Amino acid sequence: MTTDTAAVFASAFGDSPDGIWAAPGRINLIGEHTDYNEGFVLPAALPHATRVAARRRSDGLVRLVSAQGDGGVVEFALDGLAPGSVPGWAAYPAGVFWALAEAGHPVGGADLAFASDVPTGAGLSSSAALECATALALDELYGLGLDAPGRALLAQRAENAYVGVPCGALDQMASSCCVAGHAYFLDTRTLTGRQVPLDLPAVGLSLLVIDTRVKHDLGDGAYADLRAGCERAADLLGVRALRDVEAGELAAAEEKLPAELRPLLRHVVTEDRRVLDAVALLDAGDPRALGPVLTAGHASLRDDYRVSCPETDLAVATANAAGALGARMMGGGFGGSVLVLVETGRLAEVEQAVREAFAAAGYGAPHAFPAVPSQGAHRVQ
Ligand code: ADP
Ligand code: MG
Repeated sequence: MTTDTAAVFASAFGDSPDGIWAAPGRINLIGEHTDYNEGFVLPAALPHATRVAARRRSDGLVRLVSAQGDGGVVEFALDGLAPGSVPGWAAYPAGVFWALAEAGHPVGGADLAFASDVPTGAGLSSSAALECATALALDELYGLGLDAPGRALLAQRAENAYVGVPCGALDQMASSCCVAGHAYFLDTRTLTGRQVPLDLPAVGLSLLVIDTRVKHDLGDGAYADLRAGCERAADLLGVRALRDVEAGELAAAEEKLPAELRPLLRHVVTEDRRVLDAVALLDAGDPRALGPVLTAGHASLRDDYRVSCPETDLAVATANAAGALGARMMGGGFGGSVLVLVETGRLAEVEQAVREAFAAAGYGAPHAFPAVPSQGAHRVQ
């Protein structure tokens, strides 16, 4: 997998770019399916990033190429850009051009070459990395003066309204706003965030990401159904979003809902609580205690929200049995990645145990790597 963005640029467009920018994928320590309920999330940026080499054009044309795309150069005019007009992977960066123009930002044409080492479709937000790298490059090429949350929200708008994926703000806010050595505690209602120190090496801990490399098909439809279920529950309870139900009111609120909506409410309310608990533990300098919070989050996603799958359940159970401090699935569900908190000295052992369990179950080999909280979107050169 090439990550030499300048080489991709040179072979597609000749010559050299005006600059190179990067935006990372992310993990999420805790706070799953809370962002579209206006709740809390706690992501951190991965060292894995999408880089873009970019050059301004003065003729209103855009040319895009990606080392992870289908090989060809995608070309379109800014004039006439509308949702649906650019298909495939290029819809993500095209959507950013569209969202910027729609918001009244004076963006002209550009040549953009992407290269990424963020695993795609693994719940690690390669789509947000692609969008946020594009947004930062265009911001700086055209001197728009946007701030990190502003770019993130335009990137989210690109994914929602141009690509057509109804995601919340978690992925783009994380990719744009995270700071190395920290987790980013974000209130997705107010879009205010705070950096929370997360220096795991100092306490001998590591985060391990296990990409199961499975993505079960029912994911997309299920996501829309879950969102609709949460909205219906909020309507029935007379609140703006499920975030407004306090943990102490949970039992009474459940009584007011039909049986099928109760587990959704339970997950969202307890998950918001877990994010607040996790932040308090980090603030108190006790990251080791995050372990049980992660595992409780997984149980809630498995039993109440019902978005886990046999592969993620096996990875979590095996990691915990092999001595991890805690583990949970990340992302929308039905596959994707698992996050494991583990003492660094046991990292290899836990990873090996998961590999063996996958082999014994007849699953394909997972892809595992340590996640060090890294820098959000930034200029590389
Ligand atoms: P995730 O964001 O969890 O990785 P998504 O389904 O939201 O999964 O986004 C994955 C899609 O984003 C890919 O199928 C591809 O279309 C696009 N994508 C992401 N990164 C790149 C890249 N570097 N080059 C081309 N397309 C990419
Ligand atoms: Mg995505």
